[in-house]
Amino acid sequence: MQATVPFVHGLIDAQASAWLEAMRSAAPDLDFRFLSDVSAQERKEVEVAVVANPEPATLAELPKLKWVQSLWAGVDRILREMPDPSVQIVRLIDPQLGETMAEAVLAWTLYLHRDMPRYAALQRDRLWVQHDLPTAAERSVGLLGLGHLGQSAADRLKKNGFTVQGWSRSAKQFPGVATFAGADGLAEIARTSDILVVLLPSTPQTRGLLGHGFFADMKPGASLINFARGDILVQDALTAGLEARRVDHAVLDVFMVEPLPETDLLWSNPNVTILPHISAPTNKRSASAVVARNLTTYFTDRRMPVPVSRDAGY
Ligand code: NAP
Repeated sequence: MQATVPFVHGLIDAQASAWLEAMRSAAPDLDFRFLSDVSAQERKEVEVAVVANPEPATLAELPKLKWVQSLWAGVDRILREMPDPSVQIVRLIDPQLGETMAEAVLAWTLYLHRDMPRYAALQRDRLWVQHDLPTAAERSVGLLGLGHLGQSAADRLKKNGFTVQGWSRSAKQFPGVATFAGADGLAEIARTSDILVVLLPSTPQTRGLLGHGFFADMKPGASLINFARGDILVQDALTAGLEARRVDHAVLDVFMVEPLPETDLLWSNPNVTILPHISAPTNKRSASAVVARNLTTYFTDRRMPVPVSRDAGY
């Protein structure tokens, strides 16, 4: 086949080289190359590129570009940076990423369910206090977002005995999961969940969605996990909810500004657990296998994967 596929990225060199190697191993028949190694003549024929935080101006050097395969699941950044509607964007849908996120959701749900932040605080104060423990079935976990990652997390939580419910844009049905949609559905899932897990994409509709109104709707004493994007959450509203003890604890993996600035007060809030965007890192080997499959299908029979919707923003 030997089609040339440029890898257009804004990564540090070591990361970029590791990705290139992983993609070459996954699809030895394809000619993956850094864009800098693709000649001006070859650039004129390129139809597909693999991208990871690309400089948008660089992609303009590929006049026949039809679509790009992103190495990330979230496309908020590339949609903002690549306004050219003639180029379709395909995001990464990797079953391994779903498993990794499901593992993270289960781990941090258990952290809250088993009151780990409270027992860590008690240890610091040398206090021996035992609290009641509800069963997992008595804990209702609400997933905001029931897409690839949300469904994977729902399955894992159910297997662990939790009562699971979920909220999405369009109405959905999954066995053993109570489902909600729309603005009323958001208020309802907020009112009835003990732990809320955010797995929504960042879009014009979801940015700033979880603000004062949402925290006022939350069940008193419930907790929140944000594994999606920092801009979905209004930080002041969360802080106010924590201060009023309406929200018990927040586990945050994503922030408006990353890395979270040293001066941010969230660092020292005892009711916040900060993670450095590690809930579901992309696995180079499994992601490259997905990329290889998508590209091979395209070059074999001209079928491209379903692109993201620019209108919906995800
Ligand atoms: P996905 O398959 O596109 O699913 C998105 C879900 O959100 C769908 O259920 C969708 O509803 C719902 N949704 C979108 N807009 C909505 C709205 N306005 N109101 C209600 N529901 C809405 O995405 P995914 O693969 O699960 O990934 C979700 C996000 O996770 C990504 O966009 C990315 O930002 C984030 N992520 C984070 C990490 C990390 O390490 N922290 C890693 C990977 C991904 P419908 O089902 O009706 O379409």
